[in-house]
Amino acid sequence: MNHTLRQSHLFTKTRKEAPADEVSRNAQLLIRAGYIHKEMAGVYAYLPLGIRVIEKLKDIVREEMNGIDGQELIMTSLQRKELWEKTDRWNDQNVDVWFKSHLATGGEVGFGWSHEEPIADMMRNYISSFRDLPIYVYQFQTKLRNELRAKSGIMRGKEFVMKDMYSFSLGKDDHDVFYENATQAYKRVFDRIGIGEDTFVTFAAGGAFTQFSHEFQTITEAGEDIIYINREKNIAVNEEVLNDDTLADLKVTKDELKKVSTAEVGNIFNFGTHKCEELGLTFKDSKGKNVPVWMGSYGIGITRLMGVLVEKFADSKGLVWPDAVAPFDYHVIVLDNGNEEVRTDSERLFNEMKVRGMSVLYDDRDARAGEKFADADLIGIPKRIIVSEKTLASGEYELLTRSTGVSTFIHEQELLSD
Ligand code: ATP
Ligand code: MG
Repeated sequence: MNHTLRQSHLFTKTRKEAPADEVSRNAQLLIRAGYIHKEMAGVYAYLPLGIRVIEKLKDIVREEMNGIDGQELIMTSLQRKELWEKTDRWNDQNVDVWFKSHLATGGEVGFGWSHEEPIADMMRNYISSFRDLPIYVYQFQTKLRNELRAKSGIMRGKEFVMKDMYSFSLGKDDHDVFYENATQAYKRVFDRIGIGEDTFVTFAAGGAFTQFSHEFQTITEAGEDIIYINREKNIAVNEEVLNDDTLADLKVTKDELKKVSTAEVGNIFNFGTHKCEELGLTFKDSKGKNVPVWMGSYGIGITRLMGVLVEKFADSKGLVWPDAVAPFDYHVIVLDNGNEEVRTDSERLFNEMKVRGMSVLYDDRDARAGEKFADADLIGIPKRIIVSEKTLASGEYELLTRSTGVSTFIHEQELLSD
């Protein structure tokens, strides 16, 4: 990805209004700022600014998945009916988000809403002996789900980018170690993008083997879930599994828990050997006996995360990106008022930043200061550098931090050594 971009070349323009039918704050702001385009309810295109955020999120997640020995691949979007029949998940009663179609050659296909079945089946080609295990694989893929509700903008898309990882282990002990590693890796992801404090590992429904799955739930008013938390005891429970048994298990009473609105940003499952038994994925153990593989599944909603970041950090003026995922680090704005010296200086500064590999959106447009500032507020890049007659006279540039609104002055040398 390019590190720099002239705003005069950016084909997206900011807008005062979002489409009237867009009710979610995250999508309204992202559309107005030119990050996404709404194709239809729950279906969004990601534009040049938008994919920069997505790619940054993916890079962070990729680093953490590689850090726990994940190997990246990409599965297909079209899926075989017979695989999902084996686990009784082809049925629309059991999975209510399927998009399905017909092949010209006859028969039905499904559009991937998850990849547990296809990946377990594929692994039958690569796993035969205990020597082949463990295997950890992951992908970033656009999932297709025929969601009924579409009121949460990019936090609930009918197509959305997910990172899904799958673990194939020898047995329970190895599985448990990896499951814990994955949990820690997820925590690092959420820490790195600034939502660690507000993201809880939450007991939730699901998981064929264990009683619970674990969701990563982030506090936000825009979330669709309700969980109960106790920060001191580090306990979080999804309301869907909050009952007397769960409370007893966790040694906590309901009075000690606080109700909060959250968005599910990740979900991890332990399937035990159940799924691999259903799909016939086995290996020969050291005694030559055929045993089913122990499987886990680990998802993070990449585009939902982007929506959560908007919801948590945006202010009345527009988007506010955490440094780690901002489309650019710097927004250089020239206010030349027809003064050629100012323009020459800003061009020079932009080039100096460019040759140093700094990440800069350069507002080189001929527009009024008010318009440029309003656009910059809406776009939400963390650090703004203003080049004007005033800065030329003082020999320093004005540096404004988007999240705090605080302005200081910075010498060129200091700026370029960042
Ligand atoms: P939800 O309960 O919100 O419908 P889910 O439990 O069905 O989500 P999973 O199958 O666990 O979702 O998918 C893994 C992750 O993908 C979720 O934790 C979430 O972050 C993300 N995700 C799921 N559905 C959507 C969607 N429609 N749009 C965007 N992200 C999604
Ligand atoms: Mg889930």
